[in-house]
Amino acid sequence: MINQAQTAHGLSTLIREEWNPIVNTYAKYLINFSYGKGAYLYDSSEKKYLDMLSGIAVTSFGHNNEAIKEAVVEQLNKFWHTSNLFESGLQNKLALELAIKSGLDSVFFSNSGTEANEAAIKFARKFGNEKTYIITALNGFHGRTYGSLSATPKYKYWEGFFPLTPGFIHVPFNDIEALKSAYNKYVCAVMLETVQGEGGIYEADYEYLQNVREFCDENNILLILDEVQCGVGRTGKFFAYEHYLIKPDIITLAKGIANGLPLGATIVDKRIANVIVPGCHGSTFGGNPVSVSAALKVLDLLDNKMLSHISSIGTLIMNELKSINSHLLIEIRGKGLMIGVEFDDKIKVKDFVLKLLNKGIIAGTCGENTLRLLPPFIISYSDVELFLKTFKETLKEF
Ligand SMILES: *Cc1c(COP(=O)(O)O)cnc(C)c1O
Repeated sequence: MINQAQTAHGLSTLIREEWNPIVNTYAKYLINFSYGKGAYLYDSSEKKYLDMLSGIAVTSFGHNNEAIKEAVVEQLNKFWHTSNLFESGLQNKLALELAIKSGLDSVFFSNSGTEANEAAIKFARKFGNEKTYIITALNGFHGRTYGSLSATPKYKYWEGFFPLTPGFIHVPFNDIEALKSAYNKYVCAVMLETVQGEGGIYEADYEYLQNVREFCDENNILLILDEVQCGVGRTGKFFAYEHYLIKPDIITLAKGIANGLPLGATIVDKRIANVIVPGCHGSTFGGNPVSVSAALKVLDLLDNKMLSHISSIGTLIMNELKSINSHLLIEIRGKGLMIGVEFDDKIKVKDFVLKLLNKGIIAGTCGENTLRLLPPFIISYSDVELFLKTFKETLKEF
């Protein structure tokens, strides 16, 4: 319950010390937000925080977004849930939009990233028939339920939870030869993040992803791209794989798709859709009308103008960070508004995040020692200036 690394720096007021009524799966900051507006959150003492994390790539259009709120309220005034036993015009509309954007054919709706990936894993195995193995990449992250956890090769996440789901082969990321030599005739799919998020913001190399696509085609296996974090505009394209001129067979989305309401989507090619029949998978809440209304508005707002804003403001932040001359900064990585700042060992990223938090900036961590920036798409140039000024000040304290 008490995080020693954080209390050691005299910032213990942010860390819970008494009994926690919430199961302790997250080391939480003891800040209770009372409201949010755009790129800012306000706590109970009216302290203002610039949100450079967006609830982990979720509230891309900011807090309390008027247009999305209007769409949600309109649906709330009609009905909240009907189950997937009935046709939904809203789901059909969203599925069609996602199909058109991706060039794929059908969508399965769920409530989260891990569920979107569970569906992808099940569909790939159903399609593969006697082929059951899925190759995934080291340093990747696909979720916490058993299928997606087993697809995530990280011992820290596995410890205490064995036995895992069999049928996953893990290979180094961005290494086509490793993938080729791990392949066997029982493999039905390769599953990758186009840009690894939790692992530390590592993009797939351009040639690597093209080679993976080619290899999958040659062997008649599926390419699943987990775009739960990097999709829905985050990198400056609707799908991150659009930077690579390839097309996957299955795409998974969640985080940013409904600006904070729970929604997952597994978009599939019709060859895959054709093997799925009623009863083989399902979800009670999946694609609930309130979340779907929010998602339809998110897609509306995410037009080409917004995508180019994401690219240019992302490039600006990256360039400004890269221009800082400091031996404490190892590497600045990312694309669009998905940015990682890897620190030298002399800085513990958690200490840096706590200092930023005390100064009214919310940021995250990822990888081994990397600051994670996932600001909302609506962030302004003056917000960016405030962030950069605070970042530089904080760096000087180390
Ligand atoms: C967050 C994340 C997930 C899991 O999503 P949840 O909604 O937390 O289940 C899966 N894949 C990637 C790439 C993610 O970033």
